[in-house]
Amino acid sequence: MDADVRARLCAHWGMCPRHALAFFAVEAAFRPHLIHGSTILYHDLMKRALHVLGGHGLHRLAPAPVVRRSLHVWGPCHMCSLGYGPGTVGNAPAERLAQGRSLANARAFAHESRRGWLPHVCGQCAGTGTGTPCRCHLIEMPGHDGGAALRAARASVADIATHLARFENAFRWDSRATDTDEDRGALIAAIGWCGGWSEILNTFGAG
Ligand SMILES: [Zn+2]
Ligand SMILES: [Zn+2]
Repeated sequence: MDADVRARLCAHWGMCPRHALAFFAVEAAFRPHLIHGSTILYHDLMKRALHVLGGHGLHRLAPAPVVRRSLHVWGPCHMCSLGYGPGTVGNAPAERLAQGRSLANARAFAHESRRGWLPHVCGQCAGTGTGTPCRCHLIEMPGHDGGAALRAARASVADIATHLARFENAFRWDSRATDTDEDRGALIAAIGWCGGWSEILNTFGAG
């Protein structure tokens, strides 16, 4: 991945929900046990989120406005900017694939790993009102709720990042098959945290 693409993906906190899911589904279709591109990208983003939310032993949180600003999306989704935007539904090769049999692998992955992502579903995305907010809803939280929400988000992101690190490590030959359902589910949790849960819940239900 070249530096320019990486910078765009970073500035946008990954891809838009539609393309994030398509990217994951295509990887799951071809290599269900090696969803490497999505894992590396979203593990990077979780580490960044943890840093923004005041991790790494700082023992205190940055002021909420600073955190919110750092969690904003800057620039378009990389895939949308390549011309696979909302006006070209179905034209992206990745999405055509994702709509076919390939979605079966993604669904199976989501179902088997649901223990790892269900606890992280954003209550506002799901319409239940309970559950740690995703990045998109976190930055919309009113000031008086912000502190508690940021602390909850930090705990949630730290947990996702820990499991995603284990999933990424399991791609190494000498660590193969050391990952758990929870570790695999952290990938879906990270995609949901970065871009919101609606697309994921519409596609996978409650796992
Ligand atoms: Zn997009
Ligand atoms: Zn949300």
